[in-house]
Amino acid sequence: MEESDALGFEHMGLDPRLLQAVTDLGWSRPTLIQEKAIPLALEGKDLLARARTGSGKTAAYALPMLQLLLDRKATGPVAEQAVRGLVLVPTKELARQAQTMIQQLAKYCARDVRVANVSAAEDSAAQRAVLMEKPDVVVGTPSRILGHLQQETLRLRDSLELLVVDEADLLFSFGFEEELKSLLCHLPRIYQAFLMSATLNEDVQALKELVLHNPVTLKLQESQLPGPEQLQQFQVVCETEEDKFLLLYALLKLSLVRGKALLFVNTLERSYRLRLFLEQFSIPSCVLNGELPLRSRASDPEAGVARGIDFHHVSAVLNFDLPPTPEAYVHRAGRTARANNPGIVLTFVLPTEQSHLGKIEELLSGEGEIPVLLPYQFRMEEIEGFRYRCRDAMHSVTKQAIREARLKEIKEELLHSEKLKTYFEDNPRDLQLLRHDLPLHPAVVKPHLGHVPDYLVPPALRGLIRPPKKRKKPSSSCRKAKKVKAQNPLRSFSHRGKKPKPTALPS
Ligand code: AMP
Repeated sequence: MEESDALGFEHMGLDPRLLQAVTDLGWSRPTLIQEKAIPLALEGKDLLARARTGSGKTAAYALPMLQLLLDRKATGPVAEQAVRGLVLVPTKELARQAQTMIQQLAKYCARDVRVANVSAAEDSAAQRAVLMEKPDVVVGTPSRILGHLQQETLRLRDSLELLVVDEADLLFSFGFEEELKSLLCHLPRIYQAFLMSATLNEDVQALKELVLHNPVTLKLQESQLPGPEQLQQFQVVCETEEDKFLLLYALLKLSLVRGKALLFVNTLERSYRLRLFLEQFSIPSCVLNGELPLRSRASDPEAGVARGIDFHHVSAVLNFDLPPTPEAYVHRAGRTARANNPGIVLTFVLPTEQSHLGKIEELLSGEGEIPVLLPYQFRMEEIEGFRYRCRDAMHSVTKQAIREARLKEIKEELLHSEKLKTYFEDNPRDLQLLRHDLPLHPAVVKPHLGHVPDYLVPPALRGLIRPPKKRKKPSSSCRKAKKVKAQNPLRSFSHRGKKPKPTALPS
């Protein structure tokens, strides 16, 4: 967290109730973005701010927004209750976080300012009831907000005064562009707007033209990612594709990467390949497949997208494939070391990709001379003993096995779709057929590979690797539930775990 030496919160002209809430949160000084953005926002300026998660950006827009709402309520005759603030975020989880932060800041004026989150899990009837009350601020994802605007359960044309688009670049990469554009047609001609984004790419520039009027752009001189004391960033050169698999296997199996790990690959096919590969060694992982939520969009448009980001305490990001752009690197790396937690990013790079890695390094180090991506001190020779097992596992993961694994997941998604539940109730035979097909074993798992014999462990690590715990055999009724849970690290993602439970992500 970068703090500034200049103006404190108390000199910004904020309402004493807001200042009290800030004090309660234990914030002694504004962060850099808060110091710059709040006074400009209070002057009524539109803002385009490059701000990453962890910079204090939420309060940077929430405090001026709350001040504006309090001003409205304090002046003139009793103003009609109306939705005056709209906060758009790319995922349900971010909607929840933003709502919580705004409510914490509005703690001493909760009667005057109400904040609703339309992307929360409640059913649409409950949401409609909340919106009927015309909360002062509505937070949500573009699709949810657009849905309510189209059904006229939410009206903004005559009342909106402040629009916030948070994580604007992610909104685009999650495919919300069309929704966003349609949504803008429901807004009044004039309103104040803030656009917050980790990167100011072309999409964000285009959005800027659409929503902002003569904005002040804040490109603060803070780094886009936390410093080395919080986030360690390494590169490791792998001579071949096979070396990448070998290294990953060794890192996870030797517990050199601990806690929850996110593995990024560049195609969906590769994410399944990796999952099946790890499965051979009894390393549980799951794939975040962007294809699946699209299929169940009708029931819950944000669910899948949220799965892509809803991770707490991710301790490691592994770029199994080099990110396609430097910006993508920043986004991937930003999944770890959140909110003062430590994190590590390890990027695998092939010799032919060195110049591409150079571009990432350039973006990260900026003007500075000090390299950000340090070489990972690891001697590949030490894990040569694993190569035979690695090769064996790679061979088992055939194209056919990958296809079957993808199909199996789609089937599971269908089985669990809320929307289809009623259909299956009426057509039990279809459900039977689908169930009957389920137990595909895409690649044969070899239980003996789950164990690492001592002779394979590099000498320096011998004695440090714990043997796998012996588990009591569960009763048949709970076996199935347990199996699903064990295979899906997402289910336990909010808990800090000791064992690596990687998630393979196509970017
Ligand atoms: P954000 O960038 O909005 O996601 O905020 C990241 C974290 O910083 C949150 O946990 C906030 O509670 C915290 N935070 C925001 N502003 C300050 C501040 N001025 N001083 C200390 N912590 C802050």
